[in-house]
Amino acid sequence: MNPVVVVGAGPVGLSAALALRAHGLPVVLLEADSKDRERPGSRALFVHRETLALLDGMQPGLAEEITSYGRTWQTKRTLYRGREVYSRTYPVRGTPPFTSLRQVDTERFLRDACERAGVEFVWDARVADVRTSENGVSLSCADGREWGCGYVVAADGARSAVRRGLGIAMEGERGEGFHVVVDVADLPGAELPLERVFHYEHPGVGGRSVMRVPFTGGFQVDLQCRDDDAQEDFGTRETVRRWLPSVVGDGYAEQLLWVSTYRFLRMVAASFTDPHRRVLLVGEAAHLFPPFGARGMNSGIADAAAAAEAVAAGTAEAVGDFAQVRRAAGLFNSAAAGTALDHLRPRRRIVKVRQRAAAALAPVLPWCGSWLEHAPYGPRTGASAVAGRKY
Ligand SMILES: Cc1cc2nc3c(=O)[nH]c(=O)nc-3n(C[C@H](O)[C@H](O)[C@H](O)COP(=O)(O)OP(=O)(O)OC[C@H]3O[C@@H](n4cnc5c(N)ncnc54)[C@H](O)[C@@H]3O)c2cc1C
Repeated sequence: MNPVVVVGAGPVGLSAALALRAHGLPVVLLEADSKDRERPGSRALFVHRETLALLDGMQPGLAEEITSYGRTWQTKRTLYRGREVYSRTYPVRGTPPFTSLRQVDTERFLRDACERAGVEFVWDARVADVRTSENGVSLSCADGREWGCGYVVAADGARSAVRRGLGIAMEGERGEGFHVVVDVADLPGAELPLERVFHYEHPGVGGRSVMRVPFTGGFQVDLQCRDDDAQEDFGTRETVRRWLPSVVGDGYAEQLLWVSTYRFLRMVAASFTDPHRRVLLVGEAAHLFPPFGARGMNSGIADAAAAAEAVAAGTAEAVGDFAQVRRAAGLFNSAAAGTALDHLRPRRRIVKVRQRAAAALAPVLPWCGSWLEHAPYGPRTGASAVAGRKY
């Protein structure tokens, strides 16, 4: 049987390879980087319950392996200008509702699972061009190697060469301003409480909003900068060392693992497949969402599961359905992320006024605190979108 080719060994490509193996299909995975590459930063920390269920369907026991390494916080807190407006502690019994671990660790679990499942990895294989016909696909690598196959699952990320080769456009918008994301290692013996904290207009960082999310061995801090802030004033290691103590206390300046900045992109591919229904776009090759709401990797893994099912069915109709359903999920997620952004980076003054009023009323009207807690992540999404909202 001709193997299916997956392009890209990020979390989505690895999941697609695993899902295809679960359908009994042979898989070759082409990855541009070398085998011993180091991937940066925590990035997609939050793995939803629905995603864990999908992964467990691809390889039974995988969800347990991931959750027993990840952290599940029970407490969520929201503060407004130094004052707590919401706090809730949930009991966790049985299967955790989510788990939090650095993306690099999730990828390690997925890669091990792929190796156990017999996925054939080809490292240092940068795909440069793609041609499709009614009968299949041929891929050319930058080093001149050629691959022919019946189907390609393209998981080659935001700058997807496969998508570009097919001439498929990304449609959407780029947000104003930037956020700084910092990974900090725990101080052994003085770990911060295991809780997710969102702080509106934190007085310690000049009224910018900030979020702290735990992961195994440390935590991620996300600082929301203003449109007129300069990256060099907040987003370098040196400047992070200056503002971090006012957010998490002293002692962490030497604990920095990773510092990065990002801008909000909301984009969805005009099509998730080619006219011959032979290439299936998944993950960031097909859509880009802002990280608040944890939609990127989670919905990418749902794409991967759906793509494998369509390839296993082996008909143009199944691939067409995949493309339609996952694009609809992408558009849904994009709209949900837009709602979250309108709250996080309000374009209208009235939103800030509402937030201030809700913070003032939260002690007497608990739903006001609840609104402040939930709104930064956007609306809940359907299970099929596997996009979710929370941290
Ligand atoms: C700060 C930040 C926080 C985030 N937080 C979350 C979160 O909490 N939850 C969430 O769900 N998502 C989050 N995300 C998004 C998440 O990181 C991405 O959605 C995820 O990495 C996408 O996975 P992917 O496999 O589609 O693409 P990638 O991870 O980009 O993987 C693409 C792979 O393809 C390879 N490749 C590229 N081009 C080629 C080529 N031409 N040929 C062969 N191989 C190629 C690359 O080397 C790479 O290995 C966050 C992102 C950022 C930046």
